[in-house]
Amino acid sequence: MPGHPIPPGSVEQTKKDVAVLEKLFDEHDAIFLLMDSRESRWLPTVLGAAKGKIVMNAALGFDSFLVMRHGARSSLSKGQRLGCYYCNDIVAPADSLTDRTLDQMCTVTRPGLAPTAASTAVELLASLLQHPDGINAPPPPTGKDAPDPHSSGSVLGLVPHQLRGFLAEFRNMPITGAAYSRCTGCSDTVLEAYEKEGFPVLLRAFNEPGYLEALTGLDKLYDEGEAALASVDWDIDEGEGDEDM
Ligand SMILES: [Zn+2]
Repeated sequence: MPGHPIPPGSVEQTKKDVAVLEKLFDEHDAIFLLMDSRESRWLPTVLGAAKGKIVMNAALGFDSFLVMRHGARSSLSKGQRLGCYYCNDIVAPADSLTDRTLDQMCTVTRPGLAPTAASTAVELLASLLQHPDGINAPPPPTGKDAPDPHSSGSVLGLVPHQLRGFLAEFRNMPITGAAYSRCTGCSDTVLEAYEKEGFPVLLRAFNEPGYLEALTGLDKLYDEGEAALASVDWDIDEGEGDEDM
């Protein structure tokens, strides 16, 4: 996991473990990410994207959940390329576990949350598998009117990209998120580095803070943002405020 350095004495074993994981990915069609931390999803996200597999992701919150299907990598993508779990992030995944109390790491308050999210992920996969475009099934259009389930192309109805579930409201919200070219999980840069160099790239991602940001150019994004902020003239003349702003 990024942010969890591998001690030198464990590198060989880690290499073997990664090889086992790579073989498992090769031998399966769909992978469910049902882990318990942000950073633990990184490696399977990269492997799934690199190998063109269907990746289903479920993540739990206090009384909410996220279920999503990862989009295909750009070389396998048709139409709008959908994002992965990391596509909205502007920092790489890092250690979110050390020195945290149990309630900070595990805050689920509703006993039915995990099974609800898991079942939703299974049903999303079922809908995707019944769509002729499979991993490239287009997400339903977003707008005021509920889209017609019969228009989706899947006999089982709509194939949303993401579902955010809110148990306090007993409500599910479909969301569509685009892929990001500097994503640390599914961008061409990361996938091509992994395919070219293999395990050493993964080891650097585990061991070196800032490596994934530098590889994808996310570090420059931060600098670009700072530069853009510095170039803004914040002096606003008093009395010229516009209430519509
Ligand atoms: Zn991504």
